[in-house]
Amino acid sequence: MNEIEDVDLLVIGGGKAGKSLAMDRAKAGWTVAMVERDKVGGTCINVACIPTKALVASARTLLDARRAAEMGIDIDCEPAVDLEKLRAHKEGVVGGMVSAHRTMFHDSGMDFIMGTARFVGQRTVEVAVNDGGTRVLRGRDVLVNTGTTPATPDLPGLAEADAWDSESILRLESLPESIVVLGGGYVGCEFASMLAVFGSRVTLLQGRDQVLPREDRDVAAAVADVLTAQGVDVRLGVRATAVRREGGHRDVVVTLDDGTQVRAEDLLVATGRTPVTADLDLAATGVELDERGFVRVDDHLRTSADHVWAAGDVAGSPQFTHASWNDFRVLKKILTGGDASTAGRLVPYTVFVTPELARVGLTETQAREQGFEVTVARLAVAAIPRAKTLRETTGHWKAVIDARTDEILGVALLGHESGEVVAAVQMAMLGNLTYHQVRDAAITHPTMGEGLNLLFDTVAEQLPG
Ligand SMILES: Cc1cc2nc3c(=O)[nH]c(=O)nc-3n(C[C@H](O)[C@H](O)[C@H](O)COP(=O)(O)OP(=O)(O)OC[C@H]3O[C@@H](n4cnc5c(N)ncnc54)[C@H](O)[C@@H]3O)c2cc1C
Repeated sequence: MNEIEDVDLLVIGGGKAGKSLAMDRAKAGWTVAMVERDKVGGTCINVACIPTKALVASARTLLDARRAAEMGIDIDCEPAVDLEKLRAHKEGVVGGMVSAHRTMFHDSGMDFIMGTARFVGQRTVEVAVNDGGTRVLRGRDVLVNTGTTPATPDLPGLAEADAWDSESILRLESLPESIVVLGGGYVGCEFASMLAVFGSRVTLLQGRDQVLPREDRDVAAAVADVLTAQGVDVRLGVRATAVRREGGHRDVVVTLDDGTQVRAEDLLVATGRTPVTADLDLAATGVELDERGFVRVDDHLRTSADHVWAAGDVAGSPQFTHASWNDFRVLKKILTGGDASTAGRLVPYTVFVTPELARVGLTETQAREQGFEVTVARLAVAAIPRAKTLRETTGHWKAVIDARTDEILGVALLGHESGEVVAAVQMAMLGNLTYHQVRDAAITHPTMGEGLNLLFDTVAEQLPG
């Protein structure tokens, strides 16, 4: 065995929390080593948020071009997707961020090791270095930030069907004429929306009786309507029981539990994510996993092993980059002598269908289940002046208010740029503002944010007297 190299902080997996902590502590003068298997900068910038949102931006540009005439602009050709240029756009964005990360890692002073780590003892890993050879490193503190990968459902025929997952589909060489998307969660809905806008005939299969099962039924139904309007055939309450790729690499045929079949050129599987813990030998450092294979952590991101921490997707944090980034802030505070916790934090999110759904706080269902007396405010996006000027009038906003304190418990904003607006609601919630303080604030006109005045105006109308 190689000689053990001791460092102050050893980071396994360079996801959002890991790379942020590694750079921060290296700049502060700690000796830091970060081991990353194959993605400089982690999942988000290489194969998840950034490439998909670059493509969603292209889909939205196409929609804008299609309705240019409506806005008084003549374009004398039919706008079309050029897959080569689309790929160049996406790879330009991703490549720029990857190379910026290489520079930042180098400049921070950390030892950035491209290789695969596995635990061989207390706070000690052996790294199979990608360029050859092995190294053994031990951290005074160790952070596990190995993320998740696309889950593969146990579906007869799937292994032979040459199906895409959310990562491999980013390498598509031609746009399928038709595609089945298996799974109506956030990832499935985003791809279904984007591919339909690009011109594929999309069938979305969802085993549950609504897309986005964590959302209120009315909100999920509005998202399904958006997808349907884009041409997606949304099929709810149907489970795939088998998949078959017909000979000669022709169509994929998906058999459903209602006895029917769906046929398409391609299949995208978007049925959740699996934690990357199976090959880490975490038991060698005394780290316990839960029944689904995620690292068990407390509210301080402590694992069951002393001085071994876990963050991001692998630690069961909400599966968003900003949650992992927030984990970094919690850890930084703790490792530098302060105290911080993940308990009770607000983690908003945006589902980038077009228009997008932005969420923060409790759904109406959750609020009622938790015993809140609830007032619900609703607004059609078409009522917002900015939406009219943009001709982006699709969508509905919904707010859930604590009827006893008038504080905002949560919102679901389906509409143009709602991912930007939701941050304002989040700040109001963090500051414990009442809905009337938001209603009565003078918000720039005409902006989508101004819609918050209108949204909360509808509550006043509902109040007795
Ligand atoms: C299609 C898609 C779109 C998404 N869009 C969004 C979005 O718009 N907004 C959002 O907030 N979230 C989005 N997400 C979720 C987001 O990508 C994840 O929540 C986030 O990347 C998780 O980051 P992390 O810090 O947990 O680790 P990751 O970024 O997953 O990093 C883990 C790293 O560990 C490395 N690794 C694993 N095992 C080892 C090992 N043994 N040795 C060394 N290295 C190892 C991996 O190579 C990887 O780079 C999306 C996800 C998908 C799939």
